Amino acid sequence: LEDQLRHADRLAKVGQLTAGVAHELNEPLASILGFAQLATKKIDAPVHVARYLDKIIQSTLHAREIIKKMMLFSSPVPNHKAKIDLNAVLAEGMAFIEPRFAKVDIQFKSTFDPELPPILADASQITQVLINLVINAIHAMDSMGTLTLRTARAGRLVQMVVQDNGIGMDQQTLEQIFLPFFTTKDLDHGTGLGLSVVHGIVSAHDGTIDVKSEIGNGTTFTITFPTYKGKDQ
Ligand code: ADP
Repeated sequence: LEDQLRHADRLAKVGQLTAGVAHELNEPLASILGFAQLATKKIDAPVHVARYLDKIIQSTLHAREIIKKMMLFSSPVPNHKAKIDLNAVLAEGMAFIEPRFAKVDIQFKSTFDPELPPILADASQITQVLINLVINAIHAMDSMGTLTLRTARAGRLVQMVVQDNGIGMDQQTLEQIFLPFFTTKDLDHGTGLGLSVVHGIVSAHDGTIDVKSEIGNGTTFTITFPTYKGKDQ
């Protein structure tokens, strides 16, 4: 099982987030297509063609910017662990996620412990964990509710908490959520890989995951990491 969890595609959930990005990409692609079609019609009028080509170049650059932004968060670079400030990584992740859910009625609340010690982690993988948990939480709240993100120091450990007041889970579901391909969602919304990816990443960081959930009341994921103890920990 551990092996399966590790091999699960850790980009799966980013795929869901990309629904928004795909939408953004449609616009420059539509103008590239449109101006290319115009250019073929006016192929004998170089002045027009030059203008259309310029539009095509502008739209392509725009599309490239969108993709660059996206890649920041789905970089397949494995395990670049460094001393990181979890608060900063989470804040940056939320700054990416929040505007993409501007249309849904979700309140995002963050409480970051200002005294949080650093951890040894791969920032892009931590972002992946955040994205997967937040997208699940948003689904569970059916686009309406409060999502709370917290960090806290717990003795020699650092905690990251993602809490929603969504539909919650029964015991039978809870027991299966980390299994690859376990999903209660339809094909369009679930791959069943999100939490197995979270599990794989957290294990690779010597962390633990605790889940509390109650039907109708919501779910709280608490992830705990060891604090940074120097380069050779
Ligand atoms: P997916 O979201 O693609 O189904 P996951 O591995 O991320 O795959 O989640 C597995 C299942 O765990 C979900 O289908 C859902 O039933 C349950 N689940 C995960 N997070 C939550 C949550 N915050 N609230 C309620 N159920 C959840």
